[in-house]
Amino acid sequence: MEPHMKLNEETRKSPSKRLVNKVAVITGGARGIGAATAKLFAENGAHVVIADVLDDLGASLAQSIGGRFIHCDVSKEQDVESAINLAISWKGQLHIMFNNAGIAGVDGSITSLDMEHVKHLLSINLNGTIHGIKHASKAMINAQKGGSIICTSSASSIMGGLGAHPYTLSKAAIDGLVRSAACELGVHLIRVNSISPHGVPSEMLLSAFKRFGREITPQELKDYIGKNASLLKGKGSTADDVAHAALFLASDESSFITAHSLKVDGGYTSAFGHMS
Ligand code: NAD
Repeated sequence: MEPHMKLNEETRKSPSKRLVNKVAVITGGARGIGAATAKLFAENGAHVVIADVLDDLGASLAQSIGGRFIHCDVSKEQDVESAINLAISWKGQLHIMFNNAGIAGVDGSITSLDMEHVKHLLSINLNGTIHGIKHASKAMINAQKGGSIICTSSASSIMGGLGAHPYTLSKAAIDGLVRSAACELGVHLIRVNSISPHGVPSEMLLSAFKRFGREITPQELKDYIGKNASLLKGKGSTADDVAHAALFLASDESSFITAHSLKVDGGYTSAFGHMS
């Protein structure tokens, strides 16, 4: 086992309970980064609502962590509002909103971009995030002072060529929206930040590879990133790495951090010519 994985396991065995009595909604929480975050938040004492389109996975994860599940398509404003209302009716408050649901784009030339695809992708990645910020901030202002809103951006928001055009556009827009919302919501002590992951071997990324005609296992993808796309040689990206960043941004330990984008990318987007 790699040393950092051992550390993760040890952290998991003795959680620091950094979110005791906090109430969190996680969109896209049924699997991947969202699921790892839901588990970590719950282990740290949070009450978690998982909001996702994957009913079976989401419901069974919610049950296993003592949380709640709600079917939620983030492209539908009413669904996101209902997820937040569930948290409020369950525990009376909302402290943490993790706008994490997202899909990968279909690659192709900008000269033949399918505008229906652009519209569909933005309706989930971008509108879903707007819906989450809008209704979570309203609930946080009404229910208590303060809160933490976290949005999943991507290394694609920083570097071109890492994702399909509409995907890159959606993630760059999320970072802009995060800064803009943070300016308005700071007066209510609501912090708004994003996380930019890179190379997590999730279903989303594995399917994107498959569409390119490249079947790859999660371990192979992790090894590939560790070797070719990380300054931390041999260290590939994991959903847990992102979950720990989300835990920090959700907890009071980050209480003076807002309008920030936290890169969880092994240094990839900050380096040139050091990748192999
Ligand atoms: P994933 O496919 O495992 O998880 C995505 C989750 O979002 C799934 O549970 C899925 O059901 C849910 N989802 C999709 N459309 C939805 C909708 N309309 N409404 C509600 N839920 C919906 O992939 P992941 O990598 O864990 O993705 C999580 C986030 O991380 C995404 O926003 C993605 O863009 C971002 N991201 C991932 C990587 C990576 O390397 N995997 C890198 C950068 C950013």
